[in-house]
Amino acid sequence: MDELAVALWEEPELGLHEEHSSKLLRETLEEAGFDIEAGVGGMPTAFVASYEAGEGPTIGILGEYDALPGLSQSVGSERDPIEAGAPGHGCGHNLFGTAGVGAAIAVSRALDRDDAGGEIRFYGCPAEETLVGKTFMARAGVFDDLDAAITWHPSDHTAPQRGGSLALDSLAFHFEGESAHAAASPESGRSALDGVQLLNTGVEYMREHVPESVRIHYNVENGGDAPNVVPAEASVWYFVRAPTREGVERVTEWLREIADGAAAMSRTEVSERYYTGCHRLVSNGAICDTFRENMAELGEVEFDEAEHELAGELQETFPEGALADRLAEFEPPHAEAADGATLYSTPMDAFDEGDPGGGSTDVGDVSQITPTAQFRATTWALGTPAHSWQAVVANGDFGRTALPYVAKLLAGSALDLLTDEARLAAAREEFEQHVDGYETPLPEGTEPPFDLTQ
Ligand SMILES: [Zn+2]
Repeated sequence: MDELAVALWEEPELGLHEEHSSKLLRETLEEAGFDIEAGVGGMPTAFVASYEAGEGPTIGILGEYDALPGLSQSVGSERDPIEAGAPGHGCGHNLFGTAGVGAAIAVSRALDRDDAGGEIRFYGCPAEETLVGKTFMARAGVFDDLDAAITWHPSDHTAPQRGGSLALDSLAFHFEGESAHAAASPESGRSALDGVQLLNTGVEYMREHVPESVRIHYNVENGGDAPNVVPAEASVWYFVRAPTREGVERVTEWLREIADGAAAMSRTEVSERYYTGCHRLVSNGAICDTFRENMAELGEVEFDEAEHELAGELQETFPEGALADRLAEFEPPHAEAADGATLYSTPMDAFDEGDPGGGSTDVGDVSQITPTAQFRATTWALGTPAHSWQAVVANGDFGRTALPYVAKLLAGSALDLLTDEARLAAAREEFEQHVDGYETPLPEGTEPPFDLTQ
């Protein structure tokens, strides 16, 4: 597993372009006797690996392996890109996919020994950072026959994740006008950038009148070329988030009407491109309890002195107050026990129960199809923000020390679900109380956005 995590870290690839990473993970599973279905959901780097032995349930382990743009970083305690502007593993997906593969292989061995019967699958899910992979895989139906799905995420602490995440629409509006000399003949031009600006201004007025839990953010993808040319083309990319799918769709409809209004005001044409969307995450409590029991058995990760030292050096680069803010989220006794720690891996109960979450994840779509839960495990220095260069350092260095722990935790939990009928039934019953059939958020004909890289 260690070699695999290093190989992925050394060649970070952006979403839907993870050819090398996906191939390495696929080959490892194939060598271990798994059947591979590659290219699922219309994405060449997405795959499903399955191993079946005897009668029993089917459990899926979800894995990710995409990197983030601009986060290239060498191992050390100061910002030092290996290649300026190149991608880096700032979210730890090099560890994420690898531990899941290790766990799936461990479960397949247990199935061979007759410790359990059933099927274990590893889902190779590309492009999580752009919230694409699992949504398009879900539309293709690859999660439909699962009895449960489990996953994890690299973090600065170890706990089940009981909170949710926000549903999302990711879409862009492209305005088309007429170019003209901006000083000599502005009257013959129609500014596409005006369309973008009027849309954004309209949204700022809408913002007051949507529920407080709604989050709307945008960035201008293209705002024209030069001040002396009336921009004939301009586009803006929007995220709309809300605690429910219906809530997102209501706001997105309003957004579309504002875009039409902005086009009318600027006498430009507007067209929409829907990139992707996702549902909210419904975390399954019975599976979270299973994680917690396995964490209690496994205890802590043993990091050595040099690893603690590097983690401590990284903590010194965090913004002032970041560590204190982090500790304030932990409940006693962990808030006190973690005070002064560089790496804190004592398992704790989730401190996010009932929290609808501030971000979004495409794991949400899987959680609408089958009982699903995830946990966080310590791979980063305490207080490390995700998507930071300090996280890239951890993912290439001491984070790897946690891989056997994470793989055991995933494998142990998968085996509990494969062998304990009552546990799986409890997870299913809870799922049915909260979820009512899956509908893809993708409008008909939406293709995976291969050109989306952030
Ligand atoms: Zn991530």
